[in-house]
Amino acid sequence: MGGPLLSQRRNLVTEIPGPESQTLMRRKKAAVAAGVGHVVPVSIVAAGGGILIDVDGNSLIDLGSGIAVTGVGNSAPAVVEAITRQAQLFTHTCFTVTPYDGYVAVAEKLNSITPGHHEKRTALFNTGSEAVENSIKMARSFTNKHAVVVFDHAFHGRTNLTMGMTAKNVPYKNGFGPFAPEIHRVPTSYPFRDGLGGVEAADIALLQIDRQIGASNLAAIVIEPIQGEGGFIEPARGFLPALCEWAAANGVVFILDEVQTGFARTGDLFAADDESLVPDLIVTGKGIAGGLPLAAVTGRAEIMNSPRPGGIGGTFAGNPISCAAALATIETYEKDDLAGRAREVGTIIDEVFSELGESDDRIGDIRGRGAMKAIEIVHSGSTDPNPLLTGSVAAFAAQHGVVVLTCGTYGNVIRFLPPLTISDDLLREGLRVVVDGFRANSQSQFTDERNS
Ligand SMILES: *Cc1c(COP(=O)(O)O)cnc(C)c1O
Repeated sequence: MGGPLLSQRRNLVTEIPGPESQTLMRRKKAAVAAGVGHVVPVSIVAAGGGILIDVDGNSLIDLGSGIAVTGVGNSAPAVVEAITRQAQLFTHTCFTVTPYDGYVAVAEKLNSITPGHHEKRTALFNTGSEAVENSIKMARSFTNKHAVVVFDHAFHGRTNLTMGMTAKNVPYKNGFGPFAPEIHRVPTSYPFRDGLGGVEAADIALLQIDRQIGASNLAAIVIEPIQGEGGFIEPARGFLPALCEWAAANGVVFILDEVQTGFARTGDLFAADDESLVPDLIVTGKGIAGGLPLAAVTGRAEIMNSPRPGGIGGTFAGNPISCAAALATIETYEKDDLAGRAREVGTIIDEVFSELGESDDRIGDIRGRGAMKAIEIVHSGSTDPNPLLTGSVAAFAAQHGVVVLTCGTYGNVIRFLPPLTISDDLLREGLRVVVDGFRANSQSQFTDERNS
């Protein structure tokens, strides 16, 4: 029995992973490709609210939401009801063979809630990567240009085109080339490391775009408003508006990849809302459908309508059960004001780590917005990345029943993406375990390891 009725407490009855989880991992190792890894190797049998239950009877606190997916909580009642109802009616027709209401209703909804009041259209896909790829197809078709600009530390997915758009080599790209041509990477705004204001950082990126690519060759600029896998890097204010304005003035499609930041996560329905950005296209996924696979591209009608019929689609794209889930999920974000709740979650995370940061100078930076927060971990008294300590703290948390994710180009960021429906008490308890992880890994031990 999953869902929100699960008792919302952490409770460990075995080591992590327990014996039954270890059995699954042995089967996994013998049956599943090694490239498919795990953060915490436990076998989950139920989940709800902020709790994951494993096969050994352990209750773990979920501070990752399956990578920012279950914002409305796991097996949220409205979502379960919607997908059950839809499953009994029909499971698939292929929207491009014989259409149905749910797909159109999701498109209408996204057109109305995404930034900007211009005429919009939407197309649905299965994954964030697939949606990002399709946003590039739209932009190229519309502009008749080929070049695409992406940024340092970007993550846009694992398909060939999006892998090329992603910055980090290991594990995402190493050995998987050749990559698609005409992808150009420019510096981003990374206040903790570049110390620049947003407009200054934008000037550097735009100068490079102008000198190395040229607007007349450039179809699109694609950027995450807060970079996800790259380290929850929140650009300095003014950076994104400057890029957006330059794109508009130069006939370049400005695409926001909100696959991770979208749907109430950052304390606004979309991260773009924070600086009143209006992208030409916005890409969404992850939190869109309460855990079911769905992603979307939404944006200016003239761009979205550029590819001819048949040019955009996919067998499963906009599956009716995923669409039913999305409608129930989006209604929940709105009805329960989960954007407001995300801000409360963010305040609690800030409070806990500001306090730790006062006594522990290995906390280099605390950043992010709403329930998309991270701490960047460094060697004492420097800005040198400390991935070893980061891994140790995350491992400590897992052993003590808290699932946290790491990220970052340098592997030195712990990120918090709790379900927005998590209770204050459970959240605080989970964060306390992470703080204990810092205390358990004493300062001197990790200073030594750097020098060895
Ligand atoms: C996860 C992610 C993607 C890729 O989404 P998938 O559903 O894993 O293909 C793309 N962009 C961003 C910003 C993401 O966080």
